[in-house]
Amino acid sequence: MIPVSKPYIGEEEKKAVMEVLNSGMLAQGPRVAKLEEKFTEVCGVKHAIATTSGTTALHVALLANGIGLGDEVITTPFTFIASANSIIFTGAKPVFVDIDASTFNINPDLIEAAITPKTKAILPVHLYGYMCDMDKLQAIADKYNLVIIEDSCQAVGATFKGKVAGSFGTGAFSLYATKNIMSGEGGMITTNDDSVAEKCRLIRSHGMKRRYYHDMIGFNFRMSDLHAAIGLAQIDRLEAFTQARVNNAHYLNENLKTVVTPKVKDGYGHVWHQYTIRLDGKRDRDAAVKRLADAGVGSGVFYPVPAHKQQYMQDLVGEYNLPVTEQLANEVISLPVHPQLSQSDLDTIVTEVNKL
Ligand SMILES: *Cc1c(COP(=O)(O)O)cnc(C)c1O
Repeated sequence: MIPVSKPYIGEEEKKAVMEVLNSGMLAQGPRVAKLEEKFTEVCGVKHAIATTSGTTALHVALLANGIGLGDEVITTPFTFIASANSIIFTGAKPVFVDIDASTFNINPDLIEAAITPKTKAILPVHLYGYMCDMDKLQAIADKYNLVIIEDSCQAVGATFKGKVAGSFGTGAFSLYATKNIMSGEGGMITTNDDSVAEKCRLIRSHGMKRRYYHDMIGFNFRMSDLHAAIGLAQIDRLEAFTQARVNNAHYLNENLKTVVTPKVKDGYGHVWHQYTIRLDGKRDRDAAVKRLADAGVGSGVFYPVPAHKQQYMQDLVGEYNLPVTEQLANEVISLPVHPQLSQSDLDTIVTEVNKL
């Protein structure tokens, strides 16, 4: 079976972990600091703050921007559930806006209609590694004085008009095992704002700057040096990993004939966390996934149930009618695009998908 994702775990990763174990210093330390420094370089930002996961990175990013009880945050329903949950953790309410079928991302032209006096932030998700139209989002944020929290968990290294994901507002990244670079579990916040960065560092570690003196309430969301060691081994390969994904995606785009393939507009640097096709019309997606699996091609459905259709979410925020999201949730299939695919894997994927 060609897996839909496959973490790269090489000798460097293994050696790096053993070095930390042998040092006896496992908790947040010099490797976390080094990984943060590398992230500032990748994203072209002043500050990076490591956390335990993408979820905690989003949570802390929202809190550090002053989002809390009674606030509303506009986001997309077509995402991993953590995007919306992180808003709820702060006491704020997610407000869902439908997506653009050509990008899978929040439709910027529908955002203004969802703004109320309680709206404090927009939380766009650069889904599958393809960035949102940040010109449009920034213009809305400026007009209504909103902060932007970029869910960049799938988009490390992605660009919009040459600017990198996580450098527009406050960025949140995931280093979960299947992401483009990983540390097993892990997260990262990026910002150019000194005071947001300072708050993130405090919230991450029980509000402590000086040991056992607490400036505010916080969590233990600290990354361990064990995890950071894996992340450091990976981050130097980010460009090579991304280039392999780009090459694989181009090959699939050129050779797939029977499905709707993803398009990249001018000015966008896609990092292909997922390569996602659509089965147009009334074709049976579950049957297609099964036929691919039977032929040895792994695939994934990201995501079969949008956030606003989860029962507990409906209990919290009420019902929404978001037709584009609901249609695409029934049509999408993500195919393997990861850096470890061979040419023969790619040919198998093309052959089998073209039979659908
Ligand atoms: C992976 C992911 C998250 C959460 O990251 P974790 O590290 O799993 O907590 C949030 N948003 C999106 C879009 C993701 O893909």
